[in-house]
Amino acid sequence: MITWDKNCTACGACVQKCPKACITMQEDENGFLFPKVDKEKCVGCGLCEKVCHLNINTSNDKTKIVVACVHRSGEVLKQSTSGGAFSAIAERIFACEGVVYGCGYVTPTQPQHIRIERQGDMKKLRGSKYVQSTIENAYRQVFDDLRADKLVFFTGTPCQVAGLKAFLGKPYDNLITADIICHGVPSVAYFKKFVDWYEEKHQCKVIDFDFRSKENAGWSLAGICKAEKRGKNHINKVYYFDEYYYFYFLKGEIYRDCCYECKYTNVSRLGDFTLGDFWGAEGQKLGFSTDNGCSLVLLNTQKAQELFKKMNVDSTEINLDYAVANNAQLRTPSKHTELREVLLREYRECSGAEIQKRFTKRFRAVRMKARIKYAIPQPVKKFLLRIRYFVK
Ligand SMILES: Cc1cc2nc3c(=O)[nH]c(=O)nc-3n(C[C@H](O)[C@H](O)[C@H](O)COP(=O)(O)OP(=O)(O)OC[C@H]3O[C@@H](n4cnc5c(N)ncnc54)[C@H](O)[C@@H]3O)c2cc1C
Ligand code: SF4
Ligand code: SF4
Ligand code: SF4
Repeated sequence: MITWDKNCTACGACVQKCPKACITMQEDENGFLFPKVDKEKCVGCGLCEKVCHLNINTSNDKTKIVVACVHRSGEVLKQSTSGGAFSAIAERIFACEGVVYGCGYVTPTQPQHIRIERQGDMKKLRGSKYVQSTIENAYRQVFDDLRADKLVFFTGTPCQVAGLKAFLGKPYDNLITADIICHGVPSVAYFKKFVDWYEEKHQCKVIDFDFRSKENAGWSLAGICKAEKRGKNHINKVYYFDEYYYFYFLKGEIYRDCCYECKYTNVSRLGDFTLGDFWGAEGQKLGFSTDNGCSLVLLNTQKAQELFKKMNVDSTEINLDYAVANNAQLRTPSKHTELREVLLREYRECSGAEIQKRFTKRFRAVRMKARIKYAIPQPVKKFLLRIRYFVK
């Protein structure tokens, strides 16, 4: 029977495997979910331990092919976080009447893994939700789809992909997976407390929190929040330096324990594909525009390399060492600092308003600098970048 382990990633494989349905996910004092066994019902079969990816050797061959790519549809690109690689893969899956699993909001504060079978539903999955997504019964659904001979595309954090593979227990030809480059996830409870405060401050009801919407400042870390206020729909701009949640997320201070010792932050990836942002693309001569985003894609398996040839993207191969040098999460986990403990204590003891007050005081100078940076118009920023690369 599984016992509490701080490295648990909350993938939920044990919950879904238990034949007695006696494991539930429960919040700890910091809002993180951990499995808890009802000992009265447990029959000691050991399946929960066997299926846990923490107990399985998940090492893979080092990735050899890396590409920078951009979806050819401007509309898809606009709705995607990076270069729209996720959509380009999903399109190929739908073309074969397959199904796609990924993270969508089921309520404005609850991201969850859901299954879609139509291209028209892709909007639900596009966009990075910077909160831990719950898996619910998605692994079981994937298993049923695979057994029904459907082509399945599953996307998620590397630990969620590892959880799925451990749950399935054997490889399937009709399964394609993509893991995202990931630096960590905060809990839903922490996010909910923030949203409750945000609604109070803005006197609104949040409909959709899109951390990385290009509607605000193009391909950047800025986003938008759609909210309802006195019966009307409003759009608030979201910047990471304005409110505490996004700032602490990007700073890596409020993740699950396991994220600081993550065994997946390297280039031996579990997914067929690995998807991320190709930051720094603006300064490179790639042969296509990256103005509205660019994906960094690792093609980790033969399956991915074959499928990639049919994807509707402009692309160019890039050097793996270059990708690793420019993306910290391909080489090391986020750092656990003392501030994290302070922030978790604040979460337990303070109201959202108080957390925000302390945040503005603590990071006054950093926030000011970031605000000035975002105030520079995009064309000027691009011009400065070009000069920088030219001078180099
Ligand atoms: C928590 C988190 C941390 C990230 N950290 C980095 C990073 O450090 N460096 C980097 O280069 N890229 C990072 N990314 C990945 C990046 O933000 C994009 O998600 C990725 O490049 C895909 O973009 P796209 O344009 O192809 O697709 P989009 O259409 O934007 O697709 C989004 C994809 O992400 C999945 N997804 C969204 N939210 C979650 C979630 N909460 N949990 C699991 N899956 C989710 C969706 O299922 C979908 O597959 C992170 C993403 C998340 C969610
Ligand atoms: S040992 Fe078996 S019955 Fe007990 S919790 Fe684990 S899977 Fe469930
Ligand atoms: S199977 Fe997943 S949820 Fe269960 S203990 Fe292992 S990591 Fe945690
Ligand atoms: S950093 Fe690692 S453990 Fe944390 S969510 Fe990402 S893949 Fe999972």
